[in-house]
Amino acid sequence: MRVHQRGPHTLRELYLTTPAPDDRVFTVYGDERRTYGEHRRSVAGLAAWLVDEQGLRPGDRVAIGMRNVPEWTVAFWAAMVAGLVAVPLNAWWTGDQLAGALGHAGARVLVADPERVTALAGHPDLPTIVRVRGEDPTPAGVVAWEDVVRRSDQAPPAVDVAPDDTATLIYTSGTTGRPKGVVSSHRNHMTNALNVACLGRAVALAAARRGDAAAAPTRPGTLLAYPMFHIAGLNGLYGAVLSGATLALLHHWDPDEALRLIASEALTTASGVPAVLRDVVELAVDHPRETASLTRIAMGGAPIPPPLVQRVATKLAGRASAANGYGATETTSAICANTGADYAAHPDSVGRPVPGAELRVVDPATGTEVPDGVVGELCFRGPQIMRGYWRDAEATAAVLRDGWLSSGDLGLRREGWVFVVDRAKDVIVRGGENVYCGEVEAALLAQPGVLEAAVVGIPHPRLGEDVAAVLVAAPGSAPDTGALQEALGRALPSFAVPGTVIWRGGPLPRTATGKVLKDTLRGELAETPQSP
Ligand code: ATP
Repeated sequence: MRVHQRGPHTLRELYLTTPAPDDRVFTVYGDERRTYGEHRRSVAGLAAWLVDEQGLRPGDRVAIGMRNVPEWTVAFWAAMVAGLVAVPLNAWWTGDQLAGALGHAGARVLVADPERVTALAGHPDLPTIVRVRGEDPTPAGVVAWEDVVRRSDQAPPAVDVAPDDTATLIYTSGTTGRPKGVVSSHRNHMTNALNVACLGRAVALAAARRGDAAAAPTRPGTLLAYPMFHIAGLNGLYGAVLSGATLALLHHWDPDEALRLIASEALTTASGVPAVLRDVVELAVDHPRETASLTRIAMGGAPIPPPLVQRVATKLAGRASAANGYGATETTSAICANTGADYAAHPDSVGRPVPGAELRVVDPATGTEVPDGVVGELCFRGPQIMRGYWRDAEATAAVLRDGWLSSGDLGLRREGWVFVVDRAKDVIVRGGENVYCGEVEAALLAQPGVLEAAVVGIPHPRLGEDVAAVLVAAPGSAPDTGALQEALGRALPSFAVPGTVIWRGGPLPRTATGKVLKDTLRGELAETPQSP
């Protein structure tokens, strides 16, 4: 008799077949270390509670509202194992925003940390709340985590989960407006998981061919500096399960704790947004011995300053390489990637489409493809493109046509390399000339005294819009606007040189995923007196 056999096709199967032995450490958080075996038991307990005691059925939504604590990973995998839809909530949201998303998603259960439980207190129509890490008595109507994971001897619920079933409902960052609920299937995530595995393997093989020390076989371990509620953080989570890796978690970004974790767990990868990984690169430069295990600096989620890539290439040569993943919640994480020596050679490119993905660069006005080297909207097709926006057919139809996703990003292709120049909504039209903020920001960041840079359009009576730059000076350097504008005049067309330059005392305001809050800066600029 022929037996039909196949590998994992869903996140449920991925988790249930992970190669990690029970005694391998899965999560590390502060001084808490949990093995894969302990994790499996907690997942079994929570999955059984959700199905047997709460009566949840495939397709029902389970929201997760926590910082990056170990219980986050348990809640996510329990939802997958029970055939439910996980709804990760942005832990930086206010109580009103959290309650709004819970209602919009129609969540039946919320697993939350004490901060989120407090933020939601008093809101009407909340789902059943399970509180993790609670020290005070459990508030009325809230269930204690310890009570739900106690049935840890349960077998996984017997549910059928198909690759095209919905796995997650993830809200976008809301950088360009109201966050949208992105519905992604198991197939979307599995495609991404396999690409993560392929890229990791390709980097290791390339390093082995070059004979780099970085190729030495090690047990994989990741410092996860992305929030798990963001698609890139989730990607790190299932990437770990796929390879049986250890995942080191931080409640909030803390470079000293990051260094301690890299050293004590001999972590091999640091993964996060560029604003945070900049610190990791400096830790690796300053503490080579403690960070000797680190071979991969994986960034993405926001534009990456080319000088940061070059710093990895020059200062960590032969030890660690940089990787850039470009994508969106709608593309289930990276749809283009640039890694290792390729990335050092093209630090301003987001690389090439990942296996299985297709790219077209189109004129946004006509929808026709533009030639190489010409800026257009980046449109993608492939098995990782979302199913649509939750309960928003109009928004879905606006970006998804015949399987092609309009990314809202402007970019170009040159000899196969893809370059993101700007978000369409951020383009400044100055006296009829298009100014791409991304290009001006890259030119600013290439100047020695500039640590952070954001460019926005501000109203101008004659030109319509003018170019304004908000900058943070590099430590120890004195801001000199005149010299900077002169240097930019040599690097950019004159219409793109910022007429207004503001130096900020502290870091730029950013979203939880490292994107600059340009609306906040526009507001600040509107209140700053401008010279005529
Ligand atoms: P909203 O759609 O609500 O405004 P958002 O698009 O910011 O939210 P995300 O899905 O988190 O939400 O962000 C995707 C966007 O982030 C991409 O479209 C792109 O503009 C930017 N991005 C992500 N990774 C990179 C990268 N490696 N390089 C440049 N830009 C990136």
